[in-house]
Amino acid sequence: MNQWEKNIRRTVPYVPGEQPQEEGIIKLNTNENPYPPSPGVFEAHKNININRFALYPDPAASELVRELENYYGLEKGQVFVGVGSDDVLSLSFLTFFNSKKPILFPDITYSFYPVWADVYRIPYECPPLDENFLICPEDYKRENGGIVIANPNAPTSIGLSCSAIEEIIQANQDVIVIVDEAYVDFGGETVLPLLEQYENLLVVRTYSKSRSLAGMRIGFAMGNKRLIQALTEIKESINSYTMSQEAIRIGAASLKDENYFQDNLNKIVATRERIKGELEQRGFAVLPSQTNFLFARTDKMSGGELFEKLCEKKIYVRHFNGERIRDYLRITVGTDEQMDKLIKAIDDILT
Ligand code: PMP
Repeated sequence: MNQWEKNIRRTVPYVPGEQPQEEGIIKLNTNENPYPPSPGVFEAHKNININRFALYPDPAASELVRELENYYGLEKGQVFVGVGSDDVLSLSFLTFFNSKKPILFPDITYSFYPVWADVYRIPYECPPLDENFLICPEDYKRENGGIVIANPNAPTSIGLSCSAIEEIIQANQDVIVIVDEAYVDFGGETVLPLLEQYENLLVVRTYSKSRSLAGMRIGFAMGNKRLIQALTEIKESINSYTMSQEAIRIGAASLKDENYFQDNLNKIVATRERIKGELEQRGFAVLPSQTNFLFARTDKMSGGELFEKLCEKKIYVRHFNGERIRDYLRITVGTDEQMDKLIKAIDDILT
């Protein structure tokens, strides 16, 4: 090894779900929304002044931050925005997990958490989910350097009640507790009302799932003003202009179409429950989902094999090779038409 190579920071990167570019694929592998963004987003996009692209965007993304504060009834200074919630979460790890003690997150959860911990040299421990894939609040009542919980959890799709999360926060008031609510709009219980009570709580959300804007890359965090200030200082020490002018505009516009937003969520939840029933009728075990995806397995075929056979039929779902979950498939809820094709493909493969 050359001397200079020893100086290189090395890490094992996160592997995102495939983004096939060819036509004719049914893409149920990265929990995107199958419906278009709201009409207000189309309007805002039409009105974007391209001459503005010659100038840097507002580094504070004030328009978007202000609309989010209004939408969630928060005070000025309680919202931080970033390039998808991955950006917000990564900066939060860097900002808040700065002790020698291990941070805690479940053994089965969003697989980016251990990657950020490794790249920032943050020690971590992973209390196992119980045999029903539930988080046990008791496991989080020990010394630690911070906590991150995805609620509802991914890839299990199961949500914990607000009171169970509060139990974790209450026992950990000396560290920052991050609750990643990427999927909460699809039926989970939010901990947002706890922000008034716990100054160590940070709630992270995304536009990628419920707002049909994965391609725009918009995420945000809500919390105590001192937490938001600390996050902002770290962000400003790395990259001043993270959000594009377009993302700022479009993110603000999306919040103004509440009826469209709720209709879209209702459609996805209805499809989710229908397909859960269809899968169960075919003998699948399907975990109770509060998200826009289903986590399901069948005794008739291994997860890996079913994944491959669906790929051959141009239906992409997600398969994880973790010990306890390798027999499961994570299936994003698409349109009714897409899901009917999935069920038909499963019938062709399994019968
Ligand atoms: N948190 C969880 C639990 C997720 O599943 C995802 C999606 N991969 C994210 C955060 C990140 O989403 P985004 O960066 O698109 O906001």
